[in-house]
Amino acid sequence: MSYLFCEKCWGYYQLQSGEFREDFESCRYGGTLIEVENIGDLLNIVYDIENLIIFYKFFCPLS
Ligand SMILES: [Zn+2]
Repeated sequence: MSYLFCEKCWGYYQLQSGEFREDFESCRYGGTLIEVENIGDLLNIVYDIENLIIFYKFFCPLS
């Protein structure tokens, strides 16, 4: 199951079955979405950006 990560809100959303990256142009707040294949990749991205793990607390309302 893959995830979409919002660069702006630092939120993430797990794609449900039948949903695809193409279904989401961007976050409703204009954030760029990055698709990752698993939560480990997501952690690597966040560490690369700011070395913070606070994104756990947020959920980006993508839809
Ligand atoms: Zn967002």
